[in-house]
Amino acid sequence: MSSSGPAQPNIGKLTYRENLTPDLAILRMQPADGSLIPDFKAGQFVALGLQFQGDDRVTYRAYSLSSPPEERRYFEFYVKWATEPVMGKFTSALFNMKDGDTLYWRKPAGAFTIEDKKADGTPDTRRLVLVASGTGLAPFISYILHFKSIGSKRKVVLLHGAKYAQELGYRGILEKMAADDPNFTYIPTVSRPDHELSRGWQGNVGRVESLLVDRDGGSPLEKAIGEKVAPDNSFFHICGYQGTIDTVTSILGPLGFVTNRNKRKDGSFDIKIETYG
Ligand SMILES: Cc1cc2nc3c(=O)[nH]c(=O)nc-3n(C[C@H](O)[C@H](O)[C@H](O)COP(=O)(O)OP(=O)(O)OC[C@H]3O[C@@H](n4cnc5c(N)ncnc54)[C@H](O)[C@@H]3O)c2cc1C
Repeated sequence: MSSSGPAQPNIGKLTYRENLTPDLAILRMQPADGSLIPDFKAGQFVALGLQFQGDDRVTYRAYSLSSPPEERRYFEFYVKWATEPVMGKFTSALFNMKDGDTLYWRKPAGAFTIEDKKADGTPDTRRLVLVASGTGLAPFISYILHFKSIGSKRKVVLLHGAKYAQELGYRGILEKMAADDPNFTYIPTVSRPDHELSRGWQGNVGRVESLLVDRDGGSPLEKAIGEKVAPDNSFFHICGYQGTIDTVTSILGPLGFVTNRNKRKDGSFDIKIETYG
């Protein structure tokens, strides 16, 4: 989402920033008047707004919430500074802001939420496979923290691809959760393992979609879960770059999976998609 519009009444202030690299950060914002944040569903986004010099309108950009709905003190975001091929307008301003600086925000919106019911209304108990490239991880952090809060027993597998090991945001929390919770599996992968920012990386190599490609009798995903993925045992969520989404859906399509953009006649589907750009 990218839009300009009249200023909204909601004003927030930045309260926290953790830079993973100079152009990748976890940010928190809370309502400037000290109120609690409104209800939302894991997977939704907030449009953040800034007023640029010489422009009387506020410019908004969408950012997925990485905090869970149970966290009522602040919104958390996982943001990449867009620098290629030209410096991004909004993120260049955001990465130069300090704690306490203010920005506008619109109430949470979006339909990239957890599917817990099938088209016929019965509970959907299939394993959730969450596939993220880059900051596409954000909504899945919200899902996972929400599941933890409610004591969910649903099986969840998170596949996260980043260019560099240092860009595997939330890695410490995710590794700990995977060690503590038998229902949660975390499989990170790095596409530029030889770079300085990947120093010491000994895990999977390649883009996130490579975790779904058959290697010696099964994909890394299938080896981790111990069975073939099929629409009757797995429901996929994919978030990130268009290229990741296209490749993952082209791998899953021949296995019988259909997306929410191309549902079966009975309304059922097995892949839910969110594109950032
Ligand atoms: C639902 C949703 C959720 C999102 N969640 C997140 C999130 O959690 N984290 C996150 O980091 N992002 C997220 N985004 C993306 C975010 O909304 C912005 O698009 C992103 O931060 C870039 O904004 P910007 O203003 O800095 O870049 P822009 O100025 O809008 O530029 C966007 C891109 O186009 C390129 N560009 C701009 N002008 C030109 C030009 N003249 N010629 C060629 N290229 C050009 C820029 O280099 C940049 O790569 C989300 C998007 C959506 C739709």
